[in-house]
Amino acid sequence: MKYISTRGKAPALSFGDVLLAGLANDGGLYVPETLPHYSKEEIASWADLSYQALAFKIMWPFVEGDIPADAFKKMIDEAYAGFNHSSIAPMVQVGNNEWILELFRGPTLAFKDFALQLLGRLMDYVLSERKEKLVILGATSGDTGSAAIEGCRHSEHLDIFILHPYQRVSEVQRRQMTTVIDDNVFNIAVKGNFDDCQGMVKSSFADQSFLNGAKLGAVNSINWARIMAQIVYYFSSALSVGAPHRKVSFSVPTGNFGDIFAGYLAKKMGLPIDQLVVATNKNDILHRVISENDMSRQSLNVTLSPSMDIMVSSNFERLLFDAHGRDGAEIDDLMARFNNGDVSLKDQAWSFVKDNFDSYKVDDEKTCDVIADVFAKTQYLLDPHTAIGLEAARHCWKDKSVPMITLATAHPVKFPEAVEKAGCDTPALPEHMKDLFEREESYAVLENSLSDVQAFVAAKL
Ligand SMILES: *Cc1c(COP(=O)(O)O)cnc(C)c1O
Repeated sequence: MKYISTRGKAPALSFGDVLLAGLANDGGLYVPETLPHYSKEEIASWADLSYQALAFKIMWPFVEGDIPADAFKKMIDEAYAGFNHSSIAPMVQVGNNEWILELFRGPTLAFKDFALQLLGRLMDYVLSERKEKLVILGATSGDTGSAAIEGCRHSEHLDIFILHPYQRVSEVQRRQMTTVIDDNVFNIAVKGNFDDCQGMVKSSFADQSFLNGAKLGAVNSINWARIMAQIVYYFSSALSVGAPHRKVSFSVPTGNFGDIFAGYLAKKMGLPIDQLVVATNKNDILHRVISENDMSRQSLNVTLSPSMDIMVSSNFERLLFDAHGRDGAEIDDLMARFNNGDVSLKDQAWSFVKDNFDSYKVDDEKTCDVIADVFAKTQYLLDPHTAIGLEAARHCWKDKSVPMITLATAHPVKFPEAVEKAGCDTPALPEHMKDLFEREESYAVLENSLSDVQAFVAAKL
C-alpha cells in the first residue's frame, strides 16, 4: 500500500516510512492511496472471528509489503494481551437498541491504548529492521502521555520523553505515567502550563541539533497507524449487533477527529453505517463546521471532558481531502485561505461533510445530568466524554430501529471531578491498578526553559 499526502506535494511513501514520519514534509497528512472494499458476504464471514483475528483481516492490506504476516499477527496478539476483557472491546446495552462500546479495557483505561499498544510495537519492528533508533518526544495534558508510555515501554529501539505541566495533571494521570519505571521511559514535569510543554516539543522538532544526530519521532494522533488500528472496533461492534445484514450508527466523543475518521473509513470499506455522530463539548469547532459551515477558531474552554478540549482538529484535514475530490492543490489553497482569516468551506465540500456526519454539542452541566440520569436508571457509570457521546447520540438518532453505538472512550475512574459533580461515587480502580497509589514514582522536575529540557534529553540518550 502506498500513502499520499493531503497537500499533494510530498512523495508517496510506504507504510513503514509513514509510520516513522508522522506528518508529511509538505505539511499534509498521509492517507492510503486506495482503500480495500468488502462485500456484505465477506464482512458477514468475519462474524465469528476473535478481535485479534479480525484486527489482522482489517489491517493487513495497509501494512502488507512492509511487515511480514507472522510478525504482524504476533504484534497484534501482544498489543491486546494486556486488556482486561476477553472480547477486548465489549458492548453494554443501556437502552432499547442503545449500546455502549467499552474501549477502556486497556492498560491506561482509555481508548488510546487500542492504537498506541500496537504503534509502539510496529515502530520497534520497523526500526529494528532498519537498524535505527528513534526518540519519541511528546507533551500531555494528562491522558495521551500514559497511553504513549505504556505503548513504548517495551520497545528496544525507542526512547520516550513525555512532558507534563508540573502539578497541573490529576494524581491518577501523573501516577499512570510516572510509575512506569523502564530504562527508556523519561517523565518530565515542567514548571509551566500545557502550552509551554507543547511549545517546547514543537521547537525541538523544528531544530533537532540538540540531539547530536539522533532523530525525533511522534506518536500523536496524526500518525496514520493510529487511525488504522481504530477501524477494527467499528467492525467488531457492528458485527455483534447484526451488521452487515442491518445498518448501524455510531456516536463518537471527538477531539482531534482521529477516532471518528476511522469510523468514516470503515463505512468506505463497506460497513453499512447509517449515521456517524460527532459529539463535542463546549470546544465545538467540529459541530459548528458540520452544522453551519463555520470553522472560525475560538478561545479554548476548560471543561469536565478535558481530552476533547481542543481548538482545531488536526485529523479533519484528512476528511477535507476527500471532500475536495482528493485534490492536494485544493487543500493547499484551503489552508492558505484559513490562514488568511477565511473560515468557511465551498458549498460542495460542506455538502460532502454534512452528508457524512451529524453533530451535537453538550456543555458541562448537561454532561453531569446525563451521568446522573443513566446511573439512576441503569446503575451504569459513564465517564464525561462518553456521556457527551450518549447525549449526542440521543439527540441526532434518526431511525430508532437502527442500533446506535456510543463509543466509551475512557473509564470513569479517570475523571472523578465530573463523576462527583454528577452526585455519583468515584468507582474503585480496576484490579490491575489497585496499588497505583503505593507504586514508586520517577520523574524530573525542570524549570520552564527549553534549554533545560533539551539538555536533560540529550544527557539521557
Ligand atoms: C483522545 C480522547 C478523545 C478524542 O479522540 P480523538 O481521536 O482526538 O477525536 C475522546 N475521549 C477521550 C477519553 C480521549 O482520551
